[in-house]
Amino acid sequence: KSDDFHRDTQEAPVTATATPTAPRLEVRNLVRRFDGKRVVDDVSLSIAPGHVTCLLGPSGCGKSTTLRMIAGVDLQDEGQILVDGNLICDTVFRVPPERRSIGLMFQDFALFPHLTVGRNVAFGLSGSKHEQRERVVELLDRVGLLHFIDEYPHQLSGGEQQRVALARALAPKPRVMLMDEPFSGLDNRLRDGIRDETLALLKEEGTSVLLVTHEPEEAMRMADEIALMRDGRIVQRGAPYNIYNAPADREAVAFFSDVN
Ligand code: ADP
Ligand code: MG
Repeated sequence: KSDDFHRDTQEAPVTATATPTAPRLEVRNLVRRFDGKRVVDDVSLSIAPGHVTCLLGPSGCGKSTTLRMIAGVDLQDEGQILVDGNLICDTVFRVPPERRSIGLMFQDFALFPHLTVGRNVAFGLSGSKHEQRERVVELLDRVGLLHFIDEYPHQLSGGEQQRVALARALAPKPRVMLMDEPFSGLDNRLRDGIRDETLALLKEEGTSVLLVTHEPEEAMRMADEIALMRDGRIVQRGAPYNIYNAPADREAVAFFSDVN
């Protein structure tokens, strides 16, 4: 139930290596070319600890490609990526994806069907069995699905599976969470509720988020900051209210025109 979802929990601890003044995630002048075309064209972004930035733009503008480079599953042609002020990737140096402390959630990032809900959430965890169990219980309780801990994913609804996927992504306490159109597979009636619940949990965990969407409404609802993307470039950045009220150009106006 959503009441469980809004229960207060303590903030995630700040690790000793974090530089207090550094952005949690910083991307500098990222370029990715496919067949000579600059699909990601000089993209720079920075996200403060605990903030949500929405990378918003039409289909094909380069959002997923940007996210894949930050995740470390694709390599940029130019530019740097830093987490807490530490370089994790440039064109010669590269921390592997599993050591970046970056969580991932994609629309079709399915749960493992042969593992119970509890084992799904425990999947990326290290530490003792006892510690793993505590974290799994904490998160499943938090999303109101603790009673499903020994069930299998196919016994859950789409919305419930989505909440388990969120719990799984958050379990290892990633410094940054990357979400690529995570709600687009969901029923319209469910979507707003799950957006709000997801946002509340991300804020409690203190995770910094880069959320990709092509829906202005979703960005308006979830973002601390919107980065508006078009043809591989960030054309405008700012608070949702400011961007909505003062779009940079006519194309941005047109793009926002279906939000109310
Ligand atoms: P978005 O997520 O904003 O819809 P993408 O990042 O998926 O956009 O794609 C941006 C552009 O890059 C598209 O024109 C797409 O066809 C192209 N593209 C993406 N991946 C590849 C690839 N592996 N090879 C060639 N072109 C690609
Ligand atoms: Mg995409």
